[in-house]
Amino acid sequence: MSHTILAFAEQRDGTLKKSAFEVVTAAAALAKKLGGAKVVAVVIATQAIGNAGELGAFGADEVVLATGDAFAGYAPGAYARALKELCEQRGASALLLPHSAQGKDLAPRLSALLLSPLVADCVALDVDGGAIVARRPVYAGKAFWTVKPKGGRFLATLRPNVFTPAKSGGAPVSPTSWQPSAQRAPRVVLKSVIAPEGSKSVELTEADVIVSGGRGMKGPEHFAMLEELAGALGAAVGASRAVVDAGWRPHGDQVGQTGKTVSPNLYIACGISGAIQHLAGMSSSRVIVAINKDKEAPIFKLATYGIVGDVFEVVPALTAEIRKAKGT
Ligand SMILES: Cc1cc2nc3c(=O)[nH]c(=O)nc-3n(C[C@H](O)[C@H](O)[C@H](O)COP(=O)(O)OP(=O)(O)OC[C@H]3O[C@@H](n4cnc5c(N)ncnc54)[C@H](O)[C@@H]3O)c2cc1C
Repeated sequence: MSHTILAFAEQRDGTLKKSAFEVVTAAAALAKKLGGAKVVAVVIATQAIGNAGELGAFGADEVVLATGDAFAGYAPGAYARALKELCEQRGASALLLPHSAQGKDLAPRLSALLLSPLVADCVALDVDGGAIVARRPVYAGKAFWTVKPKGGRFLATLRPNVFTPAKSGGAPVSPTSWQPSAQRAPRVVLKSVIAPEGSKSVELTEADVIVSGGRGMKGPEHFAMLEELAGALGAAVGASRAVVDAGWRPHGDQVGQTGKTVSPNLYIACGISGAIQHLAGMSSSRVIVAINKDKEAPIFKLATYGIVGDVFEVVPALTAEIRKAKGT
C-alpha cells in the first residue's frame, strides 16, 4: 500500500455525523481505485466516541481517536494542527473532509498548513494516470470541472449526501487513541453556538424524511400545515428557492443546486414544480412523493408517487391519516 488516505470523521456532541460515514465510504472507494491504499479515519473529540469503531465496516482500516481538552467546543486551530500532524506522521497523500460548516472552516486552514491545493465541494473522486482527480460543480452548478491538483497532498471537501454510505464488508475496528503534540494557546476560541431562530430538532441534511414546500403553498403562514405533517412523520421541513427568495423561509431550508443537497428515504414535495435546479438537490431521495395541482408539473416525471391535487386539501388529509395510523 503506497498511499494513505486520511478521512476526517466529524462528530457532534459525541455522535458521529452521517457525513463521517460518507467521507470514509468515499475514501475506501478511492483507495480501491488507487489499487489498495490504507484508509485512516480520524475522529477529534474531547472524549471517546461510542460508535467510532463502526467506521471500520465502511472501509476504514484504522480509526484514530484524537482526544484532548484543547478540542473542546470545536477549536479550529487545534483541530487543524492535529490533522496536519497526523497527516505528516502517517505520510498521508490525501485528506478528505465533509463540505459541512466544520469541514469548510478546517479545509482552507489545512491547505495553508500543508501547503496543498484544496478542491472544495467535490461530487466525485477518481484516479487518472495514478493521480487523484475530483469533480466539482462551478457556475452555481451549471457546469462541472474535473480538477487534478498539482503539488502537495490531495485535499478535498466532499458535498454532503452525494457519497452514499456503504458498508465495505470490513469489520468494525477498535479505535487507536492518539494524542497530538502539546498544543499552543489557541488564537481563536469558540465562545458559544447560537441556534438560528425557530431552529428545528431535525437537521435538513441529516433527515430521513423531508416535507418540502414551494410557491404553491401561497404564503409563509401556510407552512404551519407542512410543519404539522413533518411533526407527524418526525421529518424536517425544506423549501424551494422561490419560497426562500420570497422571504417565506430561511435560506438554510433551501433544497437544490444553490441550497442543500439532501438524500432522505422519503421526500414529499408540496406545491413544487420540479425545476432542474430544485431536482439537483433532492433527486437521489429514495422515495419521492409529489403533490401538485398541475398534472403536467415536471416533478411528476421524477416522483415515485404523484398526487394531482390541491395541497390545501391533500396535506391536512395526509397528516390526519398518518396520525390515525400512528395513534397519535
Ligand atoms: C442559478 C439558479 C440556481 C437555482 N437554485 C435553486 C435551488 O437551489 N433550489 C430551488 O428550488 N430552485 C432553484 N432555482 C430556481 C428554480 O429555477 C425555480 O424557479 C424554483 O425551483 C421554483 O420554485 P417552486 O417550484 O416553488 O415554484 P414554481 O415553479 O412557481 O412552482 C409552483 C408549483 O406549485 C403548484 N401549485 C400552485 N398552487 C398549488 C396548490 N394549491 N396545490 C398544489 N400545487 C400547487 C404549481 O402547479 C407549480 O407547479 C435556481 C435557479 C437558478 C437560475
